[in-house]
Amino acid sequence: MSMPPMKPPRKNPVLRTPQMNLPPASRGRVALGLAAAAAEGRLELQVCEDCGTVQYPPREACVRCVSPSLQWRHQSGEGRLMATTTLAHSNDLYFRERLPWRLGMVHLDAGPSVMVHLHGAVLEPAAGGEAPRVRVGARLDRAGQAVLIGFPENLNDAMQDDKMLREMACDPKFRKVLVTDGKSAVGQAVVKALVKAGADLVWVGHAEPWKKLPGLPEIAALPQVTLVPLDVTDERSVRELAGEIGGKVDIVVNTAEYHRAFGISARRGTDVAKAEMEVNYFGLLRLAQCFGPALKGRSADGATHATAWVNLLSVFALSNFPAQGTFCASKAAALSLAQCLRAEMRPAGIRVVNVFPGPIDEEWNQNVPPPKVAPAALATAIVKALQDGLEDVYPGDVAQEWVQRWRDNPKVLERELAAGGM
Ligand SMILES: [Zn+2]
Repeated sequence: MSMPPMKPPRKNPVLRTPQMNLPPASRGRVALGLAAAAAEGRLELQVCEDCGTVQYPPREACVRCVSPSLQWRHQSGEGRLMATTTLAHSNDLYFRERLPWRLGMVHLDAGPSVMVHLHGAVLEPAAGGEAPRVRVGARLDRAGQAVLIGFPENLNDAMQDDKMLREMACDPKFRKVLVTDGKSAVGQAVVKALVKAGADLVWVGHAEPWKKLPGLPEIAALPQVTLVPLDVTDERSVRELAGEIGGKVDIVVNTAEYHRAFGISARRGTDVAKAEMEVNYFGLLRLAQCFGPALKGRSADGATHATAWVNLLSVFALSNFPAQGTFCASKAAALSLAQCLRAEMRPAGIRVVNVFPGPIDEEWNQNVPPPKVAPAALATAIVKALQDGLEDVYPGDVAQEWVQRWRDNPKVLERELAAGGM
């Protein structure tokens, strides 16, 4: 059985900081389809369009009829655990530090047999008895590659504490988190959700400490919360805070956002557009330059090592919604930069989580018709993404529908949005 993790003791500053060793990361181009689905928390396997065979491992052609027409399709992952083993020795540096490690062979109901990492709550198959039912899921490992995991059939919340699973996730439990903007409703909801999820300490940035902001005193009264001055438009402010707490932050959640609802011709000048870029794009760049290196340096530092960077983007980053045109452009710029950040963080095993909500229920979306994402629901989705180790999240009905339409045909979506259609 898996034991719940204990809060680790304080770090001895005299001991050296361990360096990160990643699990084996080399995969072929075809196998990346598995990672693309795992990044959103889904198990997808290749299905042959001609004969219907479900296959694993990923290949260029069908194992049964050699057809090249293969599609990635969602799988339930249900199957039977045929055999297990426990790794007691490994020449791989990553696994060497984490032994013993349980592995299993699962025969999926869909057809193929797969090798999986085993969750601690999965029971051993009894000799001569029926093979136990398990559910196989796909997760990203510390190298950002998809791996298969055998879960017990009924996974409950307590089972998230499994040691092997925690290795794949970025659970905020016992960790120290920086939320860059506590002024907004979303920022405050994220702080509350992190505290509820067991975060050890939450630093909450606020750009204008002299302003009496609604909701902030309530947040500040939480014992885990410390308010810190942080203005992401001011490089000195970002650098000073990084100098103070950069070496202790395990997760950065960038909630800083500047949002005004205008297109091109509805306003004169570029002041508002510049302000959006200053926060949404340059703000991320400043934070990444100041906090990124320290985060990378601590990615193997004990049980609560540095683990993730979360960006509050927008589904508007994928395709421009003209009624809020300049805001969308700043989010598209931020998305591109976040991809760069992800590439730079991956070798250290730090996960960059991009969150793409639909319209949030806040001041500048008053004229946008419902459904809108409530800040509390968005915050819950962000914490869940960290607990599940996801890379890309699309919270809310609008975001879910948009991303489907965008995948289906980005050109058609562009036309629909130009006509005002949500
Ligand atoms: Zn086939």
